[in-house]
Amino acid sequence: MANVTIFGAGYVGVPTGAHFARTHTVTVYDPDARKVQSINDVIEKKSDSLHIHEKGLIELLQENHENIHATSDILEALEDPEIIFIAVGTPPNEKGRANLKYVCAAAEQIAKNIKNDCVVLNKSTVPPGTAYLVKEIIENNRVNDVKISVGSCPEFLAEGTAIEDLRTPDRIVYGCDDQDALDRVTDFFLYLHGKATLCPMSTVSSEVTKYAANALLATKISFMNSLAMLCDSIGANVREVQDGVGKDTRIGRKFLNASMGYGGSCFPKDTMAIAEYGQLFKSPLEIIESTIKVNDKTTNYFTEKIIETFGSDLSGKNFIVWGIGFKARTDDLRESKPVQVAKELMDRGAHVHIYDTVAGALTNFVNENNCYEGKFTLHHEQYEMVSEAIDGLVIGNEHEKFRNLNIKILKIMRGKHIYDGKNILNNRLIKDLIASGFTYKSIGKDSVA
Ligand code: NAD
Repeated sequence: MANVTIFGAGYVGVPTGAHFARTHTVTVYDPDARKVQSINDVIEKKSDSLHIHEKGLIELLQENHENIHATSDILEALEDPEIIFIAVGTPPNEKGRANLKYVCAAAEQIAKNIKNDCVVLNKSTVPPGTAYLVKEIIENNRVNDVKISVGSCPEFLAEGTAIEDLRTPDRIVYGCDDQDALDRVTDFFLYLHGKATLCPMSTVSSEVTKYAANALLATKISFMNSLAMLCDSIGANVREVQDGVGKDTRIGRKFLNASMGYGGSCFPKDTMAIAEYGQLFKSPLEIIESTIKVNDKTTNYFTEKIIETFGSDLSGKNFIVWGIGFKARTDDLRESKPVQVAKELMDRGAHVHIYDTVAGALTNFVNENNCYEGKFTLHHEQYEMVSEAIDGLVIGNEHEKFRNLNIKILKIMRGKHIYDGKNILNNRLIKDLIASGFTYKSIGKDSVA
């Protein structure tokens, strides 16, 4: 059992902390006292709502309550950690590179307050070489005479399935150039996971691995989206193509679903960051650069389908958007494609009725889109906004509630137009929709109609 401190109480820090607390003692540190309070209230069963939505997280925090607590007191956070994980945000800067100001601030805080030897691992997604930067900051600001080893331990969890991803990881990648420290990290993970597939490596390889994995997954999506646009042009059905290709075990079926493009807090920023990094080192990553271009193109391609129906001026039109989170079961709206589409509709004069299965997604939408006030209405029931005044329905994410839509209720809409941004409706339902007078538009499946 080790004492661990995690910097950052976000979508990575809290699930990771709750998971580590199965076998280790965990302190989650975040300067945001509101988040800290929210975690501690859940741990102490004073509340059953957290500042982030993640399936199974509240239960896991409560299950492991004896081994975890959160604090915004830096001295308490750094009392005697053996391993520190930095899991703070690395949002893109104006050039598309990872902004490292939170990582650097965390490094400085560690340097100024740590009193014992320990290993510091970057869990944040950071450009190759960042661990060396963190090491330098710590050495330049260190107050006490302690040995601090710095390495990398990127995170591969996906929001919505974070707890399961952490419990049964495909592999755990970590790197540290100091062999003693690397061995300590190996022990830490063996204690937690037993036979899990551990992938120790050099620090910089570990940092590259994270970007490589995200960029490859994003590339699979963009690759299929390019083909989806071709399918629309020639009358093929991309859904059939996806299955035909993906059942080849060398390729795999995952991340081959054509859609209005990938979004979220990771793929867009990580593909951009590694592409920028390639340019910086005069080793351009042309495939990843194309992945990014295709992604932007696909979203425009999807919104164009709406504009083709109604014209570019959408004044007086009313749309429904089901699913505003960048994927189902999350309240995270960072780089969300359905948000982008909803904004485009509002910018063109339409009123948008928004529903999501996660209440926090609706709250975040209001908080992040004050400037659109009056142009949208939020709904807590899936069908409550369906009326004669509606001109079209946009399916924004892949929640199963949207897969089984109720044609009888939707038939009241004056505009019988369905835009499936995630290609989730099956052929039978599409045929029923068409037979009921609807038009159906998606990406690479229009021929089904
Ligand atoms: P987040 O924005 O949800 O959380 C970051 C947290 O760090 C915030 O709560 C913020 O208050 C806190 N913070 C800022 N400065 C701090 C400091 N000096 N000390 C301690 N805490 C500080 O971000 P996230 O989604 O959890 O992502 C964290 C990192 O993990 C990013 O680099 C991201 O790319 C990477 N990542 C994210 C995911 C994901 O699905 N969200 C998956 C894998 C990797």
